[in-house]
Amino acid sequence: MSINYKLLTPGPLTTSSTVRDEMLVDHCTWDDDYKQITQQIRKDLLKIAQVGDDYTAVLMQGSGTFGVESVITSAVGSDERVLILTNGAYGERIVQIARTAGVPHNVLNWNYDEVPQADVVRDHLAANPDVTHVAMVHCETTSGILNELEPIAKVVKDAGLTFIVDAMSSFGGIPIAVGELGIDFIISSANKCIQGVPGFSFIIARRDALETCKGKARSLSLDLYDQWAGMDGDGKWRYTSPTHTVLAFAQAIRELEAEGGVSARYERYSENNEILISGLRELGIQTYVGDEHQSPIITTFFYPEGATFSFQDMYDYIKERGYAIYPGKVTEADTFRIGNIGEIYPDDMRKVVEIIGEYLNQVDTQKGQEQ
Ligand SMILES: *Cc1c(COP(=O)(O)O)cnc(C)c1O
Repeated sequence: MSINYKLLTPGPLTTSSTVRDEMLVDHCTWDDDYKQITQQIRKDLLKIAQVGDDYTAVLMQGSGTFGVESVITSAVGSDERVLILTNGAYGERIVQIARTAGVPHNVLNWNYDEVPQADVVRDHLAANPDVTHVAMVHCETTSGILNELEPIAKVVKDAGLTFIVDAMSSFGGIPIAVGELGIDFIISSANKCIQGVPGFSFIIARRDALETCKGKARSLSLDLYDQWAGMDGDGKWRYTSPTHTVLAFAQAIRELEAEGGVSARYERYSENNEILISGLRELGIQTYVGDEHQSPIITTFFYPEGATFSFQDMYDYIKERGYAIYPGKVTEADTFRIGNIGEIYPDDMRKVVEIIGEYLNQVDTQKGQEQ
């Protein structure tokens, strides 16, 4: 079977053939080579997060949501309370996690095209002294909006609270000074900006914050403290690990370094994103998020004007020409999304703009003929 299109989706995404090649061997999990690979990944993740020895990295089986669920259900005790900031589906998923596990929580909502405001968070914390943790999403992949970590981090740290960040779709693609911001737990997964394949998530945590998780977990397999305790000594995962994914991820990290690290990757993603947005604007297609908050990861576009537009029709047209795009996820408008992360380059962006231009022309011509 051969798939002849590239993924313009925010993960799983298009990986390099060298990353995929790593998965052609079956590695055992108990021997020193393998445990060493795990330990090297954990070390490399700390470097990517710009943190020192006061932090540690834990790898957790499952997709990104498993990592978020592990943190929320392990870090927030039954006598504590987490304030969750939401402006999209992934913030709302954190609320769902808390509700399902019975984790005490408060919620502050913003519209999907607005970023969480630090002064609102400050007022809420002043009025709710029982809040002990604050959780938010960095890049809300729902819309592509990039939430501002710095002002919120300042409010959370001024209040002496624990700060949890879902940086699933930004970590490795946008520089984040985790230590400087005082983030206590930051979560991402193998198949986003590090450009690996799906199979596990990872958590970078301040050691002293992680120590407080002991005995708090509501789940055996998602117990963050126990996962860390098992892994920290010699790199042994508690339960069967996704070996092929781990090997691919180690290679993906080497390729991130070879590209020039996070700042170089950020430059490439930003260039991809600028070409995409300016190209589609020339075709009369507008973005949902204002430029000041648009992430360089994924962009939500309004449907072009014209009653004959069908997303499915355009999707098929683009896919036949080599790219898979993404349906919209914002609730109040007709939109589609295009991601520009993964093994994707400016030429891909120029090509996809050209294909969409051709498609719209063809639809226009058909319309003309019908009249
Ligand atoms: C991808 C993503 C997740 C996790 O999704 P999974 O499908 O569980 O991998 C969580 N939060 C954000 C912001 C994401 O982009």
